[in-house]
Amino acid sequence: MSHIFPRHTKASLPLATRGEGPYIYDQSGKQYLDGSGGAAVSCLGHSDPDVTAALKDQADRIAFAHTGFFTSEPAERLADRLIAHAPEGIDRVYLVSGGSEAVEAALKLARQYFLETGQPQRTRFIARRQSYHGNTLGALATGGNAWRREPFAPLMIKTSHISPCYEYRGRQDSETPEAYGLRVADELEAELQRVGPETVIAFVAEPVVGATAGAVPAVPGYFKRIRDICDRHGILLILDEVMCGMGRTGTLFASEQDDVIPDIITIAKGLGAGYQPVGAMLCSARIYDAIRDGSGFFQHGHTYMGHPLACAAADVVVGKLTDGGLTARSAQMGKVLETALKDRFGQHPHIGDIRGRGLFRGLEIVADRTTRDPFDPSRAIHKALKAAAFEAGLICYPMGGTIDGQRGDHVLLAPPFIITEDQIGELVDKLDIAFGKVFA
Ligand code: PMP
Repeated sequence: MSHIFPRHTKASLPLATRGEGPYIYDQSGKQYLDGSGGAAVSCLGHSDPDVTAALKDQADRIAFAHTGFFTSEPAERLADRLIAHAPEGIDRVYLVSGGSEAVEAALKLARQYFLETGQPQRTRFIARRQSYHGNTLGALATGGNAWRREPFAPLMIKTSHISPCYEYRGRQDSETPEAYGLRVADELEAELQRVGPETVIAFVAEPVVGATAGAVPAVPGYFKRIRDICDRHGILLILDEVMCGMGRTGTLFASEQDDVIPDIITIAKGLGAGYQPVGAMLCSARIYDAIRDGSGFFQHGHTYMGHPLACAAADVVVGKLTDGGLTARSAQMGKVLETALKDRFGQHPHIGDIRGRGLFRGLEIVADRTTRDPFDPSRAIHKALKAAAFEAGLICYPMGGTIDGQRGDHVLLAPPFIITEDQIGELVDKLDIAFGKVFA
């Protein structure tokens, strides 16, 4: 019997006993290729000696000092490093323990910014139906996952949701990708007019959608239009890069490829690479200065923010992603993965779309390639795929559910950036075995 809930029962799950590079081993010695880094977490692979050495070193010095009294060397180093590589104008860092905490901080910072600048009537957010921003109540309210939201809907902050930029299902044949992007971006303008633009705090979106749809990037021009609309109405743009950030898409920040600079960025997952629970919210000087010159204090905080051990690990991770060249490697190996997936599954009768950027790739499963009809939900294809891949020794991240009103199954791939060409071959072979079993 396991005392851990909800589903970590000893009977049903193997014990993870060891990790090495892109592999995880269980108690029987079985090897699993970590093709999704859990959920896009393990960007360096497992047991990286530089991170574990930094952790030991910091633990020997001091593991914890409350940020109400002290700052710490690793926290300062990490913040300097992040800002040195952040988009122009982003120059403050708020260090927390994970993705949901980063998103909560972003929502509250945005609200407080408008209190400080004399616009207290701004009380609502706009986000997209195809999105996941975390499971705490504020993050859950902005997310679009209907199944996760439903039980808690009466408890939520005011948020409305517009269409995602989801080319595979949204673009009409008569439209260019650019025209499609502008059409869906303009839904933000329409929603602002519907609710009153002066009541809105911010628009929240993932640059590349992760957990609800499997690596869906926006078409070129979409986020530029979104930025224009936000600016015209004085609302903030919050980009949630918890999953797609930290080199995952081939640039340190995913939004660099959309040629847009947000007011607030959230990161986590790859920031700690799984070695520590850590997340961060980055914001522009404009926002920070308004609070500094106003009440002087962001009314928020957590006991473990800026935790020295977490920051020591993240500092090494970000160093490897930047100076160490691993983000460039994500871009390079991402092309290898894209080619391998397209070569193997490009004509597969049940793979409708292969998409993504860098080492962040998604496959959309369909019953029929031509009609793009998804499988009947009762078949729970994503669950069968997860099990078949796991049996074959591959960890991938399949998901299913109602997304933007459509039922669908997807597989997300997010292997570590150290993955080799041979290991990408192994990943594709094992995925093929899993597809073969499920679609037989
Ligand atoms: N935002 C995004 C885009 C995410 O993918 C996730 C986690 N899947 C979160 C926020 C929440 O992060 P956490 O689970 O660390 O709270």
